[in-house]
Amino acid sequence: MDYRHLPEGYYQTTKGDTLWVIQHDGGVSIRQINSDNSKSFRTDAARTPGTPVGRQKNGGFYTGSHTEELSEIYLRPADARIAFAQTVKRCGKCGKKISAEESIKRGFGPECAKNL
Ligand SMILES: [Zn+2]
Repeated sequence: MDYRHLPEGYYQTTKGDTLWVIQHDGGVSIRQINSDNSKSFRTDAARTPGTPVGRQKNGGFYTGSHTEELSEIYLRPADARIAFAQTVKRCGKCGKKISAEESIKRGFGPECAKNL
């Protein structure tokens, strides 16, 4: 599985209440956040929350754990993003707080929805 096709952003899978951060940084970095420990959702490199669980370098293979959950995100990224937005009321792309029902249903805040 090539995780470079995973869109950057935030996700939740059907397994438990763990949240996932997919970050493109010349490859792909994958981090895990516990939803009860989710103060900051900023994706700038120095402030990305969570614990690294895996990485795929450009031209390389994924090295890391939790491939079952990552497969779920890979196959249904929109659903996993919406699940994230519903749980923490934040945009699945930038992590900013969202409150409008419409935004939560689509998984994006209004600014990120414009740039799709
Ligand atoms: Zn956003």
